[in-house]
Amino acid sequence: MATTHKTRMLIIGSGPAGLTAAIYGARAGMEPIVVQGLQPGGQLTITTDVENYPGFRDVIQGPWLMQEMQAQAEHVGTRMIWDTIVDIDLSGPPFRASADSGDVFEADTLVIATGAQAKWLGVPGEQLLSGKGVSACATCDGFFYRGKKVVVIGGGNTAVEEALYLTNHAEHVTLIHRRDALRAERILQQRLHAHPKISVLWNKAVAAFTGDPLAGGLKAVELVDTVTGEGSRVETDGAFVAIGHAPATSLFAGKLELDESGYIVVQPGTPKTAIPGVFACGDVMDHTYRQAVTAAGTGCMAALDAERFVAELDFAVGQLTQA
Ligand SMILES: Cc1cc2nc3c(=O)[nH]c(=O)nc-3n(C[C@H](O)[C@H](O)[C@H](O)COP(=O)(O)OP(=O)(O)OC[C@H]3O[C@@H](n4cnc5c(N)ncnc54)[C@H](O)[C@@H]3O)c2cc1C
Repeated sequence: MATTHKTRMLIIGSGPAGLTAAIYGARAGMEPIVVQGLQPGGQLTITTDVENYPGFRDVIQGPWLMQEMQAQAEHVGTRMIWDTIVDIDLSGPPFRASADSGDVFEADTLVIATGAQAKWLGVPGEQLLSGKGVSACATCDGFFYRGKKVVVIGGGNTAVEEALYLTNHAEHVTLIHRRDALRAERILQQRLHAHPKISVLWNKAVAAFTGDPLAGGLKAVELVDTVTGEGSRVETDGAFVAIGHAPATSLFAGKLELDESGYIVVQPGTPKTAIPGVFACGDVMDHTYRQAVTAAGTGCMAALDAERFVAELDFAVGQLTQA
């Protein structure tokens, strides 16, 4: 039977942003509810080695880190619910969120931490070799390719930035683009073309990633010439798919301001949306950094601001009651 859950603080999303908001919210006595969504623990659950989350000298595993974060959030008083929000009413407080199960959540304050998924090519071998040579994040995984050969797929700013970043680690970077011109800003293109470690393959679409996930991972990228149709192959140690991200914001379209790429617009330097009491944190509002630690940082900020909002709400209600 459908239930209505009332809470001071509802958090949508259970990645580093949502769980950090939950830890701070719970410790502030707000007894938060986290609706986990289809990917409990968020994107780090689909990776293996994490070497850049502070506090761990040795490499840790993404799923383990997220289990620990969830355990910490629960330990301090967070309620986790495995459901997905399918509709939202932001005319509150209270804000109302309807879940896939039919349950309804009513909250004095709302923290949106639904993340942004990397876009993938959808070609054979891509998912099989993901984390085994195929990646969508140079900042996260570039370090593992020291002295190796890598390819970057894409033609926009992200692809060019990733290619340039990877030259810090890799011996050689090949940018693969399906057209004969890049979309990236001119200054980035100039830096790319001037770089001695980077070469570009024009008019090439990726047809498949090949290799064995259990024996050495990615071996090669199979290509098709978009003009002649001719097939070719590039042997490589790593492939970075850099064709953009899709923020999980369809729920908020028409209800919150989104930028041209679909990210939630917040007041600069804060997690505050235009609606008082509604906060956004993590990758869903950050198209620049998109790291676990930045998601956790903005999750903390969202919870601190949410706590202040609830305190002001209580004060205003108290004043009304006395009048
Ligand atoms: C393969 C890979 C490797 C990575 N490696 C690293 C790394 O080594 N170091 C690093 O710092 N970063 C890494 N990242 C990036 C990092 O994972 C993200 O920056 C981080 O997870 C963002 O956290 P988030 O909480 O904002 O969103 P996410 O982790 O994306 O979590 C989003 C959450 O929202 C939930 N959700 C979405 N829609 C709904 C809905 N309608 N209702 C309820 N819940 C919903 C999802 O289920 C999920 O729990 C990696 C990413 C990938 C994909």
